[in-house]
Amino acid sequence: MSSATVPPAISALSARAAELGALLERWANINSGSSHGAGLARMAAELRAGFGAAFPAATFEELSADAPGLNPPGAKALRFRMRPQAARQVFLCGHYDTVYAADDAFQSCRWLDAGTLNGPGVTDMKGGLIVMLAALEALEKTPHAAHLGWEVLLTPDEETGSHGTRAMFEEAAGRHDFGFVFEPARPSGDIIHSRKGTGGITATCHGRAAHAAKIPNDGRNAILGLAAYLLAIAKIPAELPGVMVNAGNIRGGTAATNVVPDFAQSEIDLRVTRLADHEPLMARLEAVARETAATHDVKIEITGGLNRPPKENHPTEAALFPEFQRAAQDVGLKPFTWVHGGGASDGNFLGAAGLPCFDGIGPEGDFLHSAREYCRVATIAPRAQNVALFLHRLAAGEIKLPANAR
Ligand SMILES: [Zn+2]
Repeated sequence: MSSATVPPAISALSARAAELGALLERWANINSGSSHGAGLARMAAELRAGFGAAFPAATFEELSADAPGLNPPGAKALRFRMRPQAARQVFLCGHYDTVYAADDAFQSCRWLDAGTLNGPGVTDMKGGLIVMLAALEALEKTPHAAHLGWEVLLTPDEETGSHGTRAMFEEAAGRHDFGFVFEPARPSGDIIHSRKGTGGITATCHGRAAHAAKIPNDGRNAILGLAAYLLAIAKIPAELPGVMVNAGNIRGGTAATNVVPDFAQSEIDLRVTRLADHEPLMARLEAVARETAATHDVKIEITGGLNRPPKENHPTEAALFPEFQRAAQDVGLKPFTWVHGGGASDGNFLGAAGLPCFDGIGPEGDFLHSAREYCRVATIAPRAQNVALFLHRLAAGEIKLPANAR
């Protein structure tokens, strides 16, 4: 509670609240939808300038985030590294893409009141990028910063599955002791201790076309076969708790309704709480496909699987979370806890690769992925102080970090 435990450089962050809010407004007014190559390039240039000016001693690399057919050509990830030789290494990451396309109606910010900014990506997650930047700026002015090395990775494709950057996270996990993912906090201020693994399958049913009126009909209706399959797999979550299965769309048949359709297809969203659930889930999806195909005399093919593994709660995270809460209390943040999140983040890759991390440590806000998205701008500076104080205590050796296997 005593302010004596907070270095002046960290206390001083509260005076930057208005400036950080203005920076957020500027960044969120740049459209950087995941598919908008020119907007991503503009945002990358802003980030390079902002982080580059703040940390002139950091090394900078621009990494290709190519993922043909998935990311716009030329998409880049940005990496800044400071003191890679230091004994303790932390990893901080955030994505600068948003879900709002170049032609989305939601393009610019609007202040709902003096402390609440409505705008595209304000909380998911340009606000988080500013928390990261401000926290590291404060850390660099603290007396023990020289003992802590850090790496920042800013990526352009999280909202579409991180297809061009996944390997960067997996590789970074191996050279760090702890990670920080600046996805938004919950509206309550709570952070995230675990996330579901996410992915999906495409189920394709092949039947046999025939005249609809021919009796007896030798046709095999692919739509009915697929419908039976979707109804059957909707029961899997009751057998495997923690698993979610959602038939997201469906197509099939032809324009002619006097034909027994020989084709139908559906894309199905999958989520798992534990990595151990993945194999049994895939096995059930395949087994039900075989059973349904046999019953309906059709063929059912399944492709796909998990894209992001689940982020499970790591013992090191559990050991350090009270210290993160203590730092929050020392900078005057209202008390918060941590919760399970159904959505995935790049923290999933870090967790699965063995790097413990705190996720959801960005500013408070809500209604992500909608035109109602807002950020409580007044939470940016204290959230940055929270991270900075935690990092300062790591650097000072006040918080002991179990060495990661690397
Ligand atoms: Zn996000």
